[in-house]
Amino acid sequence: MVKVRKNVDEMHGYVPGEQPRGEGWIKLNTNENVECSPAALAALRSIDADDLRLYPDAQANELRAQLARRHSVELDQVMIGNGSDDILTLLFRAICDPGDTVVFTMPSYSLYPVLSQIQGAKSIEIRLGPDFELPVRRLSSIRAAIVFITNPNNPAGTWYPPDQIADICESGQNLVVVDEAYADYSGADCVELVSRYANICIVRSLSKAYGLAGVRIGYSLSSGELSAALRKVKDSYNVGRPSQIAALAALTDEDWAQESWRRTAERRDWLADRLTLDLRLKVHPSRANFILVDLGDYSAADAMTFLRERKILVRHFADDPLVDNCLRITVGTQAELEVLVEALGSALENQKPATAK
Ligand code: PMP
Repeated sequence: MVKVRKNVDEMHGYVPGEQPRGEGWIKLNTNENVECSPAALAALRSIDADDLRLYPDAQANELRAQLARRHSVELDQVMIGNGSDDILTLLFRAICDPGDTVVFTMPSYSLYPVLSQIQGAKSIEIRLGPDFELPVRRLSSIRAAIVFITNPNNPAGTWYPPDQIADICESGQNLVVVDEAYADYSGADCVELVSRYANICIVRSLSKAYGLAGVRIGYSLSSGELSAALRKVKDSYNVGRPSQIAALAALTDEDWAQESWRRTAERRDWLADRLTLDLRLKVHPSRANFILVDLGDYSAADAMTFLRERKILVRHFADDPLVDNCLRITVGTQAELEVLVEALGSALENQKPATAK
């Protein structure tokens, strides 16, 4: 038996959302965009043998320059990752010694505790308020190597204004990581704080907003010093040539992106209206490409099973009391959402209110 580090031996790995095999599924469980950047697709279709044969630019300088222009920061403040998950891993690797404290909110992205365990850090989970409010005082008062804030948060899509994040930065925390994987959908972000605070790192992703989850591109915006530390601990060629090419193309087609985000918001609001007005369920206000619906007197677990039997996948978080009777639904195509609303209505009819839980 090979000896494995004790904390790795004892941990459960990250469990990604289901990626079903076969045809006919309506996949509303992992927050992918229903469209992908046409410019990225065209660029990938015209790659040549050299793009596969040769190593990529290890620092992805062209892409960093493009992102630096987009966000009005310096080139050395941008760091590119193999998805934003890679950036999160690098942050743990660069910042946390074993035994260091890491703070994140609950519920939020379930990768944070897994990365913390891998690094041997101590995780402190701070509960969000009943309406997913950010507990700014608590997040400021527990001394931590890293405080993680997801903005908009996952799974509710709640957006926190920059002044709340600024308060946490000003409390003197070593590093505040603002995971903005869904920020493009919210029409607002905390990027302006990067020029004000040395202890902030914004983490962004092209997976959802540009429809490039399969390409794997994420990036961070931070001080030049932190960015340099992340570069020291990254894999030598952490982002492949095709991925850099696709990302560059996607970022040059901002008109498509803006329109895609507008269309997503329109369908999200349509879905929220149907669930609240027609099915009389509570929907949490979302500024992301998903919504969280509270099933109230009905059982979310049973509804999820009912939907799954009809090849509709949504996400249920069984082990968090704030959301254990909720379903997170990705904003799919209009046709998919119509099928979902119909099927969820049938799922509710199938249950007896109040006795169903
Ligand atoms: N942060 C949050 C909050 C997420 O929900 C996700 C997607 N599961 C990620 C980061 C990772 O995204 P990616 O690695 O595809 O950029």
